[in-house]
Amino acid sequence: MSDAAQRVIVIGAGPVGLCLALRLAQQGISVCVVEALGEDNFLEQVPRAGTNHPATLELFDSIGLYDRLAPRGIVAPLVSFNLGVELGQIVVAALVLPVIWKLRTKPAFIHRWVPASSILVALLGGYWFVQRIWF
Ligand SMILES: Cc1cc2nc3c(=O)[nH]c(=O)nc-3n(C[C@H](O)[C@H](O)[C@H](O)COP(=O)(O)OP(=O)(O)OC[C@H]3O[C@@H](n4cnc5c(N)ncnc54)[C@H](O)[C@@H]3O)c2cc1C
Repeated sequence: MSDAAQRVIVIGAGPVGLCLALRLAQQGISVCVVEALGEDNFLEQVPRAGTNHPATLELFDSIGLYDRLAPRGIVAPLVSFNLGVELGQIVVAALVLPVIWKLRTKPAFIHRWVPASSILVALLGGYWFVQRIWF
């Protein structure tokens, strides 16, 4: 194959184009990456590769990228467990459930406090939903 035949033009500097270009360059093949977006627009894109799964990481490893990316990322543990949050929830439940158990026989609690509490929980849930989606 002549040198000219070994030149490759890669259209698009997304992850696929860049990985391909890197792989080709590592094999000594001249590559020209053509990207439609300008430098400003390209860097201002919404980040879309926040999470990389094992197969992607293996691919990164095969082109020598993993060792450079890993120190800049957060490696998710296989099983994630927040002991403080879980214990806190158990403590709250241990305090609240006996009180509810005791109050459940009182008609005023059933007819007034249960609907009021349900509405309060629904309002709080709605507020957090709106806050997380729009703010
Ligand atoms: C909101 C969102 C979040 C995501 N999060 C993740 C994630 O966490 N992890 C993950 O693995 N994947 C994620 N993805 C998917 C991931 O972004 C895509 O799988 C990946 O970007 C595809 O790469 P690509 O190179 O094929 O295409 P693209 O990333 O779309 O890149 C194509 C490039 O080619 C350029 N181009 C197009 N046409 C031309 C042309 N005619 N001439 C020159 N240049 C051109 C474009 O401007 C673009 O830069 C997410 C996607 C979205 C939308």
